[in-house]
Amino acid sequence: MDRQLPLFFDLANKKCLVIGSGTLALEKARVLLNFGASVMLLSPVFSKELMAFQNLHKKCSVVDRGFNVQDLSEITLVVSATQDIESDRVISDASKDAGIPVNVVDNRNLSTFSFPAIVDRGSIQVGISSGGKSPGLVTKLKDELEVFLPHNLGLLANLISQIRPIVKEILPSVESRRKFWRGFLEKENSNLVMSQGADIEPKKVHSLVQRIISGKSIGRLVTIVGAGPGDPELLTVKALRKIQEADVLVYDRLVGIEILKRARKESKKIFVGKTKGSHSCGQNEINSILLEEAVPGRSVIRLKGGDPFIFGRGGEERAFLMSHGIEVEVIPGITAALGCGAASGIPMTMRDASQAVTFITGHGDGELELNWKALANFNQTLVVYMGVGAAENISQNLIDNGMSADVSAAVVANGTTPEQKLVIGKVGSLPLLISESDIAAPAIIIIGKVAEQSRLEIMHLAQQVVVPSTNILQNRDSSKKINTSEAIL
Ligand code: SAH
Repeated sequence: MDRQLPLFFDLANKKCLVIGSGTLALEKARVLLNFGASVMLLSPVFSKELMAFQNLHKKCSVVDRGFNVQDLSEITLVVSATQDIESDRVISDASKDAGIPVNVVDNRNLSTFSFPAIVDRGSIQVGISSGGKSPGLVTKLKDELEVFLPHNLGLLANLISQIRPIVKEILPSVESRRKFWRGFLEKENSNLVMSQGADIEPKKVHSLVQRIISGKSIGRLVTIVGAGPGDPELLTVKALRKIQEADVLVYDRLVGIEILKRARKESKKIFVGKTKGSHSCGQNEINSILLEEAVPGRSVIRLKGGDPFIFGRGGEERAFLMSHGIEVEVIPGITAALGCGAASGIPMTMRDASQAVTFITGHGDGELELNWKALANFNQTLVVYMGVGAAENISQNLIDNGMSADVSAAVVANGTTPEQKLVIGKVGSLPLLISESDIAAPAIIIIGKVAEQSRLEIMHLAQQVVVPSTNILQNRDSSKKINTSEAIL
């Protein structure tokens, strides 16, 4: 039979038997234990790995021998993963004779049940099966659901079960309860309730019921989402899900097209970026757009490059929205410093080179008000956002306050994207380094000994020392690396 009925099995405190010593046996034992079963694991070979497994799982006992028919007494489920067809057959026959469901790993003919691929969200469980037809397709579906289904789905189910009796008391008719639950489960309503925590006071349930039944809004919500440094794969799972669900996306210049492509076609996309030299959408204008779009029941996403709370005005926008009665949820993102560091081989901290890291902005009206003495300190990494235009000022201030002009400095432009560019030089020649290497925005400057790490190359056996002393201009595709020895700065 290629279609199997999905049933959900209560395994709490039931005894299960797993036979086998390999990874498959452990994997199945882990699933059973995760659902509350106690497991006897029969393994003719007793390895260190099995011992560690037993130590980790109190409800698992490992017995170092093969299968006996007597082992089936009081057993609820059997899994055979011996990887030996004869043993599997004996175990399967004995289980069938005893009327116990048996699964033989990778052998449907010997099994009376199979394990689905599981998407585990606590009280919400999704099982997927293709009846053995296409494990690859099942894995793909599982991966998609893992991204698509919110992590707090189980908590939402718990919350619902917590308020159900109260709702039943307030709304005795089935019809009105149905109306309430339909309204409650509208994506934005449940998101809003969940954004306030996984518990709810009974008196709040009353006002929630009143509002939903009378068709009034239960509130407005804007989610401020960090879109990461550029590479769409560096979005967090949560950010991706929010983008996919969004009705409205209000986005900045730093949010690339590849990320916007992840949103639904029908969603409204509003560009509020500021580009140098062209019309810029002022903060007041952005605020009014957000206010206007944040209507009840609509999923409004404020999408910002990197992390919204690092030089992103996320804090200011949150405060503004909250002062206008709007709930705000913030999803962090990978900030440019971390993305650019990883993509160019520059660690932010390193035992001997840097014990602290500071993010500063080079953008400011007039003089930069920074504690240059502290920043010029030895043994730390300094990352300058929006600093390309102020490179001369920054370099001068650091040197005037005691930093050696020879400290390494790297500039990473368009980090983590296919257009990434990296140049390395010294603090003393930072302005020249930038002007001569055609760096385009956005770019960050990383100052400190750690910048040297980007010069590392794979050590081939025949080579001994591979640290070029000249400046490197490097495209992301390392085959395009250009050694700018003619531009020694
Ligand atoms: N909130 C963002 C920073 C916004 S300020 C974050 O956390 O990353 C904008 C500045 O960030 C740019 O001027 C540049 O200095 C830096 N930046 C953003 N994305 C970048 C990228 N892909 N490569 C290099 N620098 C980047």
